Amino acid sequence: MNGVPDQVVRSAARCGRGLCLLSGGLDSQLAVCVLREQGLHVEAVVFESPFFKIEAAKRAADQLKVVLHVVSFTEDILSLVKHPPHGFGGALNPCIDCHARMIRRAGELIGEKGFDFVATGEVLNQRPMSQNRHSLGIVEKDAALGGRLLRPLSALLLEPTMPEQEGVVDRARLLGLNGRSRKPQMELATKYGLREYPSPAGGCLLTEKGFCRKLADLQGHEGLDDERLVRLLLCGRHFRLPGGTKCLAGRDARDNAALVQARREGDVLLHTVNVPGPTVLLPKGVAGETDLALAAGVCAGYGDHGDRKEVNVRILRGDGSKEERAVVPLPKEQFSGWML
Ligand code: SF4
Repeated sequence: MNGVPDQVVRSAARCGRGLCLLSGGLDSQLAVCVLREQGLHVEAVVFESPFFKIEAAKRAADQLKVVLHVVSFTEDILSLVKHPPHGFGGALNPCIDCHARMIRRAGELIGEKGFDFVATGEVLNQRPMSQNRHSLGIVEKDAALGGRLLRPLSALLLEPTMPEQEGVVDRARLLGLNGRSRKPQMELATKYGLREYPSPAGGCLLTEKGFCRKLADLQGHEGLDDERLVRLLLCGRHFRLPGGTKCLAGRDARDNAALVQARREGDVLLHTVNVPGPTVLLPKGVAGETDLALAAGVCAGYGDHGDRKEVNVRILRGDGSKEERAVVPLPKEQFSGWML
C-alpha cells in the first residue's frame, strides 16, 4: 500500500463504530461522549427486564441524540437469578454475570449491525465487588468478545483492546479513571454539557432487599418460570397466606386495573361490592377454602368499611363461577404478618 500504514488506510476508509451499553447513568453517558469526541460513530443499547426500567436510558439517549437499541433481557436475567455462576451482590443481584451477559448480548449486535466493538461506562474500582480488576477480567472472559470490549473511562489502566490495536480507536484520547470519587465524572459532565443523569446507585430492583423478599418467596413457591408472575411483583401488596396461596391486593385504582388485566384462567379475583376497596388477585388459584376466606377478609379489611361489621365481596373463581358473600373485615394487624 505504497508504504501507508494499514491503520491510516483503515481510518481514512471508514469511521469506527462502537456500541455502548447505556443505563442512563452518568458513566455510561460519558463513555458515549468520550468515544464520539474522537470522531467515532456511537450507538447505544439498553436491556429491558422487569427489574430494570429503561426510561433513564431513553432520556439519556434523547439528551445525547444517540440511536438506542432495546434488547429483551428477561430470560437472561431470570436464568442468572436462578443460577448465578459468580454469586450475588448484597441482595439478589448477580452483577458480575449480569454485566457479562449484557456485554455478550451486545456482542451479538456487532456482527448483525456492523460495529467494531462494544463499550461500557465501567470505571475501575468504582464498585468494590463488581468493578475491581479481577471482576472486570471475569466479565471480559465470560462475555467472550475476543478483545472487542472497550472501557473508555478506565482504558489507560487496562490492556489495549483490539479496536485500539487496530487503530479504530485512538487510545491516547481515552481516559484513566480509577476509584470511587465522582469528581472527575462531574467535571466531565460539565465539559460535555450533560445536565440530566440519575444518581449512581439505584435503578435495579435486584439490589432492593424489600423487592428481593418477594422475589425469593416467588422462587420458593411458584418458581421463576412464569414471567407474568415475575412482572406482577411490581404491582400491589403481596401476601403469602397460611395455606400457601399467593395473594395480591391493589393499592390504588391503577393497581386494581392492572390486577384485573393480569387475570388468567385458573386465577381467583375478588373485589368489594358495597364499599370502595381493593381488587385482590390469587394468581394460580387458591390452596383451599380457608385461604379463600382469608383472602376475602383481606379484601374487606382494606375496604372503606367504616363501622360496618360486614362487607360484600364478589369472588370470581378460577373455573369462571361467581359468588358474593358477606365478609367480616380482617383487622390489618392480623394479616400484616402474611405480607411479604
Ligand atoms: S445492578 Fe442489576 S442490572 Fe446492574 S448489573 Fe447488577 S443485576 Fe444487572
